[in-house]
Amino acid sequence: MSGDAEQTELARRLAAVRAGIADAAAAASRRPEELTLIAVTKFHPASLVRDLVALGVHDVGENRHQEAQAKAAELEGLPITWHFIGQLQSKKARQVARYADVIHSIDRAGLVDALAGQERVVDALIQVDLSGEPGRGGVAPEELDALVEHVLATPSLRLRGLMAVAPLGGLPRPAFARVRDLSERVVLPAAPGATWLSIGMSHDYPDAIAEGATHLRIGTAITGNRPDAG
Ligand SMILES: *Cc1c(COP(=O)(O)O)cnc(C)c1O
Repeated sequence: MSGDAEQTELARRLAAVRAGIADAAAAASRRPEELTLIAVTKFHPASLVRDLVALGVHDVGENRHQEAQAKAAELEGLPITWHFIGQLQSKKARQVARYADVIHSIDRAGLVDALAGQERVVDALIQVDLSGEPGRGGVAPEELDALVEHVLATPSLRLRGLMAVAPLGGLPRPAFARVRDLSERVVLPAAPGATWLSIGMSHDYPDAIAEGATHLRIGTAITGNRPDAG
């Protein structure tokens, strides 16, 4: 269990993020209920997730399979929707689909194939690469339409929308505008229900809200610095 002072600090940071979301939503003439706050808890212990649940957080994001699996097992029975947001190896995909309710990082046909055929239906977001740099995950925008069709042809995946990370060193708002444009031009014509946009992190979530985010993945602004992530 974490100490009282830490819990007070966590509650304070969470309240500040919620206020920041409400402000950004108001500035964009959007209702805060349209936005799902996903608390990203990677590198933090299960006890911190438990504290967040006590503070009313029910959506939790993790990016490493083993760590996520262990926390989901330890916290089984709590009202948590688990979001897998990290790059995913095809050989780990089926294991992730056992505990994850939403996978945000679908980015290639091989991964979709690895998730096909299982009984449990998982919500799926296609991650789009906005950086053009290898190794950061995400499908190239030119290949998005083919991947959308592939996911739609896979009964164990329920396509919900797009996920993206703003490129390092670039301005986030134009990057998020590009995701929104891809959603409108490529995703929605093929899958009208796939309206989710998982964009926005600790440092850029107001821009994401301005560009139509539905899901915000916020780590350090809520949890403080990660223990061993540097
Ligand atoms: C860690 C992580 C986040 C949260 O980042 P913060 O800057 O701590 O808010 C969001 N999305 C992904 C994919 C991540 O890996």
